Amino acid sequence: TSTMDKGSIEAAITEAYNKYKDLKEGKNADYIPELAKVPSEQFAIVVVTADGQVYSKGDIDALYSIQSISKVITLAKNIEDSGAKAIQDKIGVDPTGQKFNSAVLVEERKGMEINPLVNAGAIASTSMIKGNNYEEKWKTIMQIHNDFAGRQLAVNDPVYKSEAATNQHNQALASLMNSFERMYFDPAQSVDIYTKQCAINVNTKDLAMMAATLANGGTNPVTKKKVVSPQTVAHTLPVMATCGLYDDSGIWFYNVGLPAKSGVGGGIMAVVPGQYGIAAFSPRLDEAGNSVRAQKAITDIVNKLNLNPYLVQ
Ligand code: GLN
Repeated sequence: TSTMDKGSIEAAITEAYNKYKDLKEGKNADYIPELAKVPSEQFAIVVVTADGQVYSKGDIDALYSIQSISKVITLAKNIEDSGAKAIQDKIGVDPTGQKFNSAVLVEERKGMEINPLVNAGAIASTSMIKGNNYEEKWKTIMQIHNDFAGRQLAVNDPVYKSEAATNQHNQALASLMNSFERMYFDPAQSVDIYTKQCAINVNTKDLAMMAATLANGGTNPVTKKKVVSPQTVAHTLPVMATCGLYDDSGIWFYNVGLPAKSGVGGGIMAVVPGQYGIAAFSPRLDEAGNSVRAQKAITDIVNKLNLNPYLVQ
């Protein structure tokens, strides 16, 4: 419970940090050229309680692009504004079991019954955000990220430009979705907004605060702003649980039992409903595109603090 003592949380973070700080497994994402330049040694872990206490260790000031973790925030905003049923009908909420940028299932399922946490579904999700034009949609997306983090965030311009210059595959996914009438705004502009959304800079405390906002039923535990409703959170977390770590979502859930979301920038956030937001950051990724040290650190903390909801003893 959130009455867990301060000492145990600090000890769990420190133990995980020390255990993995020298681990060099995996490598930075490099399909977005700018991400290859991020210092690979960086490592940070942050836990925020559902009542807003912050525990952290490592490179906690390091800023990096949020990448796919933004897909959760945009999804939550869409559920809040358009309803859970609209997401289910217009995009889908079924795991694909495919690479995050795969086109295979989009073709097979004609753009339906995928999910908003893989690229094709995420670009459609961005296109669904309410607003009459690019600027209005972008403003809403930036604002909801700020609200979840509880502070004003900014776009990492070099990362945005780097990805915008190399995102032909995402443009193709948007066109393919459009061919099945599964885009809800201009496809090219939607990809551009999506690319900018993925380039929002965060530190690990921001990610843990976003996760803690989800853990706290949609109210930011520090600013106290009601960002989304508890019902929206109840529909967002299951999509994270089933689709949050791409084609390794099943492995993650099997081992940890918690909804989480990764990004190719090296961040991962996990949610313990009612109790904690946990985030970790390290740029080196495994084959699926998930941070190696972040996965290990979060897993250890969950085990140490006994946070797997399926483990009843
Ligand atoms: N912006 C990245 C992309 O679209 C996000 C992918 C990710 O974090 N897995 O390829």
